[in-house]
Parts: sequence; C-alpha cells; structure tokens
Amino acid sequence: MRDISLEVVVTGLVQGVGFRPFVYRIATKSKLAGWVLNTNENVKIQVTGTPENIESFLHSLKNESPQAAAIDKISTQTIATENFESFSIHGSHDVSDEITEISPDIAVCDECLQDIDQPGSRLNYAFVNCTNCGPRFTIIQDLPYDRAKTTMKSFAMCPDCHTEYKNVLDRRFHAQPTACSICGPEYEMFIGKKKISADISHIINEVSQCIENGEVLLIKGLGGMHLACDAFSETAVQKLRDLKIREGKPFAVMFRDIESLKLYAEVNAIEEQSLISWRRPIVLLNQKNAINLPVLANGLNSGLNLLGVILPYMPFHYLLFRNLKTNAIVLTSGNFSSEPILIDNELALEHFSPLVDAVILHNRDIYNRTDDSVVRIIGDKERVFRRSRGYVPTPVRTALNTEGILAFGAELTNCFCVGKGQKAFLSQHIGDLQGLETTLFYEKTLAQFIQLFRVKPSLLAVDMHLEYVSTKTGLRLGDYPVVQVQHHHAHIASCMAEHHLNEKVIGVAFDGTGYGTDGNIWGSEFLVCDLNDFTRVTHFDYIPMPGGDLAAEETWRTAVSYLYKVFGTGFLSLELLLLKKIDPEKIRLIIQMIDRNINCPLTSGAGRLFDCVASLLDLVQVATFQAEGPMRLESIIENNCTESYPFTSGETIRFDKTIRCIVEDIQLGIDKATISTKFHNTIISAIFESVNIIRQAESINKVVLSGGVFQNKYLLEGTTAMLLSTNFEVYSHASVPTNDGGIALGQLAVASKRRELLCV
Ligand code: ZN
Ligand code: ZN
Ligand code: FE
Repeated sequence: MRDISLEVVVTGLVQGVGFRPFVYRIATKSKLAGWVLNTNENVKIQVTGTPENIESFLHSLKNESPQAAAIDKISTQTIATENFESFSIHGSHDVSDEITEISPDIAVCDECLQDIDQPGSRLNYAFVNCTNCGPRFTIIQDLPYDRAKTTMKSFAMCPDCHTEYKNVLDRRFHAQPTACSICGPEYEMFIGKKKISADISHIINEVSQCIENGEVLLIKGLGGMHLACDAFSETAVQKLRDLKIREGKPFAVMFRDIESLKLYAEVNAIEEQSLISWRRPIVLLNQKNAINLPVLANGLNSGLNLLGVILPYMPFHYLLFRNLKTNAIVLTSGNFSSEPILIDNELALEHFSPLVDAVILHNRDIYNRTDDSVVRIIGDKERVFRRSRGYVPTPVRTALNTEGILAFGAELTNCFCVGKGQKAFLSQHIGDLQGLETTLFYEKTLAQFIQLFRVKPSLLAVDMHLEYVSTKTGLRLGDYPVVQVQHHHAHIASCMAEHHLNEKVIGVAFDGTGYGTDGNIWGSEFLVCDLNDFTRVTHFDYIPMPGGDLAAEETWRTAVSYLYKVFGTGFLSLELLLLKKIDPEKIRLIIQMIDRNINCPLTSGAGRLFDCVASLLDLVQVATFQAEGPMRLESIIENNCTESYPFTSGETIRFDKTIRCIVEDIQLGIDKATISTKFHNTIISAIFESVNIIRQAESINKVVLSGGVFQNKYLLEGTTAMLLSTNFEVYSHASVPTNDGGIALGQLAVASKRRELLCV
C-alpha cells in the first residue's frame, strides 16, 4: 500500500511529562518516519507510513500516553507525502505569545525507585526523577520549561546525567530536574542550628531514630516543609499539637504502603485509585478499629472517625520507611497555624530549630509553594477539597472566554484564578487572608501566575465585601473594570463553569459565611441564576449571631441564639449539657446582646445551624478548627436511620420545630447518633422541598449544589439521590473545591459572562 503523510497537533498537558519520547517510541514501533517537536502552544508531529501503521500510531497516541499527560485535543491533517529517513525529535520552537500547560509535581515512579537500589550515582539518592516523575510546578520559575528556568539551574549536570539528558531513548531525555548524587541537590540535618550531617544514609538513620524516640522533626519536602512524628505515639502527637499552637485540626498520616494503610482505614476501589495516583493527595477515609494492632494516637483526629491518609511520594519518604519500624508517621504542614507552609531554609532554622528535635533541609529551592492536596470520595467520585500539589497548575477548561480576567477569591480558604483563552488557572491553596504572611504569599503568587501564564489583565472580579483582603488587593491593582460578585452566586457559578453550564439553574449554596446583598451574612441560599445574575428565592430564617465571627468559633453562642428564638427565656430551665457547661452569666450576656442588638449580625448560614445542633448534643462548645461542629455531627451518623424532624418552608425555611424536637429527643435520652442522622435527613428534606417548589414555579430542572457544607458526604450523597429520584439533573463539584477555594472560578465565570453581555 502507498505511504501517506499526516500532520498531528496535540494540545493539553503534553510537555514536561515525557510526551516526545513517548511519541518517538510509538512512531518507531508503528514503523513510521517523521518528527515531533514542542512549540510553546502544542506538540507537533509529522509522520509518513502506510495507512494501517498510521492508524495504529494514532490509536497508541490516544490510549497509551504517559500517566501525567492530559490530552485536550488531537487534530490531524493529511499533507503532501514526505520522504523522511527515520523518526526524530526536533528542538523546541516558539511560535507566538501563547503558553503551554505546566505539569503539576508527579510522585516518584517505580523505575526511579528501582534506581535507588542500583549501585552507582543514584544509589540511595533522594532526588532521583525522570521524564515520568519528579518536581515540576514547585520548581518552575518561567516558561518555556527548561532547566535554566527552574530552581535546578544552580546544579550543573555531571557528564553522565548530561548523556542521559541528550539521549532520546533514555528515560531522562530532557528531564529538566534530572540529577544524581554527584551533581544534584542534597539533604542536610540540623540539631539546633548546628549542621550535623549531609550524608543521606546517616540522616535517614538519625531521622528514624528520632521518630522512634517520640521526637518531632521538621522535614523539607516538595512544596514546603512538613512536621513529622510517630503516628502511634500519643506524647509525640501531643508535642506536635503544642508546637502548632491552638490548632485542633486533624493531622494527616503517611503510611508505609497501601497494605498497612488498609489495616487502619476502610478503602474502596475508587479511594485506592486516588491514594496510589501520581498526584498522591491526602485522602479522607473512615478510620477502622485496629484489632490486635498498635493503635494510632487518639490526638491525631481527636475522636473524629475521619482520617486523612497519604502514601509516600518522594524518594526520601521511601528511604525513610525502609529504615523505620513504625508503619505510619504524622506528616502535617510545617507552619504555625494561620501562616502558609514554610519553604525558606533560613526561616525554618530560625523559627523551628528551637522548637523541634531536628530540622532536615535540602538545597533545591521551592519556587511555587504547595501544600499536600486533600480529596474525599463522595458518590464514587473524587472531590478535591484542597487543590494544591499534584493538581495545580492544571487549568479548569471552561466554555467561556476568560482571557485577561483576574478573580481574587474569598477571604478564607483563598485561591485566586486567572484566565487565558478558555482556560481558568486556579491557584494553589493560599489559606486564610488574615495574617501578614498569608497575604504576602497571596500577592506574590498572583504576580507569579500573571507572569508564568502571560496574562494581560483586562478585567477584575472580586467579592462584594469591600473589607476582604482579596477585594482590596483587586481594587488596588489599577485602572481596570471591576465586576463584583456575590459570594453564593460565585459558588454556583463555579460549579456551573466546572460543568460547562451556561443557562438558568436552581442553585443551592450552603456554607458558613458570605456577604449578602442586604448586608446580612448569607449561607443557605436557594438561587435561580445564570452566570450573569441571580435571584434569591428562599433561605434559612435569619438568626442573630452574638459576637459576630466569634460565634463561628464558640458554637454554644449560636445554640443560645436558636434556643432563645424558639423558647424565649424558657430555655434556661431546659435539661441541656450546654447550660451546665457554659457560665450562666455568659449566657445572660448573650441574651442581652440579642435583645439590644449589640454586635449581633443576622445570619442565614447553614453552618451555624449545624454548629447549634453540635452544641446541643455537646459535641463541640468551642471549636478548635474550622467546621468542627459539622464534622463531628457527620462523624457520628448512623446510616440506617431514615427518620427526620419537622420544619416549615416558605419565604424562609424555619427550623423552630426541628430545634424543639431535637431538645425533646435529648431529654428523652435518644442517642446522639440517631439525633444527628435525623437532623441531616431534615436538611436533605428541606433542600428537596424547596427545590421542588422552585421547579414548579420556574420550570428549571437543573440543580447545582455548592458551598463548603457539601463536603459532608452523607448530605451530598443523600441530597443527590433524593433529587435524582425525581428526575432532577444534579451537579456538584469534583475537580474544583466546593468550599471557598472554588469561589474565584465562579467570580471569573460571572465576569466573563458579563463582559460577553457588554455589562462591563
Ligand atoms: Zn521516574
Ligand atoms: Zn549527575
Ligand atoms: Fe462560601
């Protein structure tokens, strides 16, 4: 058969992930001649061969690409037949001002793990990597992705590494961070500020011993520093908690391997997929009662049944577990609470060496700071709660023109978002914009994204709250048109953008707080909206929030507010643990504050209702981390209870009867698990009823669920199932956080739509 020639253009995440060597391999396997090259926009291929061979090549291209590659589009075009001699890889071409995608960091691959066992310059080498694995985003300073534009530029390759780097058939062909013990970065161990070793085997031995002695260490990782200790040692975990000051947040645990992990957590097939994926996120799993086994320290998650677990992803982790006797270590962000994860060696020594037993650093600089990402499997799908290492900077592909839009995000759990073409680049998890350090991190990362993705700002999108640091940062940026987006509209728009919806939908946005158009604090919003605008149809009845933000922390305040609303002062004679635990004088003061309307903003936040019930059940009176009340309530659910409490819906949804019945159940001695489950069922029914009323009035069948409250597995699965059973089309977040980390994408989508409609 006659030879033909084809030009193939591949777009998506196809650079820095071993794509050209892969094309080389499949082209030669299919007996094709031609070439492949990187441009700054795509990967371009020309091939000549028989139609069958070209067919088999295209099949392999689609179906066998490297694990971290994500092909967006393959376009082909027949060209005049060329007589190529063989297949070759050409140098890179710059064709325009466009950009290619940047790979997230990739967990060390199996072949590299074998290399650290082989005699030679990579024996026990903790920075081994290849085109299929290793650091990417965390070390990239600019495009095109070349070693000179990464933090590896300070390490000159040795002749052996260079030979591999130049050899198209080598796994390290054009692997920009490639290194070995002769030429690459190295670890150093400090006790106090004194360097005690730079020998990896010695360091691994020392670190193992420290961990086994119940000590706490600071260890530099891929995207930042971690604090580590033995996950089975109650005293070590307590020591770590004391060090982090005031923080009750559950710690993540790294297990030796999937087998030992399965002894301590329930893992289904989908959860296992996430755990072992090259992205290596922290996966939230149900903890299992370990029988006849060492017990994990209770202080890890202080009684919650949810455990954040992760598997090793750096060569260092593997080297460490080979030496360690313990099967699990705590590995939590190396920072003080409210500050971003630490990346700087000098600051690490200065701030942490007096507090920890040893500091382990390395000399490969981290340019883009990333925390470990956090996911949970809900409804058989991976839901990203904290989108950072392994996920960023993969863009969200939208169906909108996002060019030049900067969206600044929310105040807490902030991520920002920048637009390029139809792609929305959502930043890594930044954190709560309340401390100076986090604000600096925010501003710096924003500047880095604008530079890295060649964004020419033309439109800004901010929250309606003018006092937010994010809003102020946006407004300060300069003379660009600004779009203000209501927080809960942004939540729904974010989920719409993720699912390419561009029409009228019913939006259900449940969270803790967000600034409403009436000046009150919203958080249980039923909207009829499109990307441009929204109407608020109904919401939970407002209640005073005594003390404002303090009520989100001291959950008992909201409980008093609800009790007072429902029972008047009669609630003071109820038999409730809450009333025994909290100083009566304090409670009297709260009543006064409500009566006189002193520092009592009104809220419809669903999170507050969950807080109230958690306080009534005495699960939490003062929260030690965000959303502790709701998390504890969910944690005790019993799946076999189908009962629920009464409530009333209408212009607002009222839970007075619910509160009354919960108090009755408590007095009757009904167990907490049943009450919590009945409460959750009530919320599901309230959503179902309201959404049905809206469907009848508006003839809209698509329901979009968003907001932090939908991190609750029982609630999201229950609501979705109930809506699907009556033929609603239901959309919820998966790759974009449902919490405020996803807000910026929604702001960006709304801004894009308003620009399209010439509203700005
Ligand atoms: Zn590798
Ligand atoms: Zn080398
Ligand atoms: Fe929110």
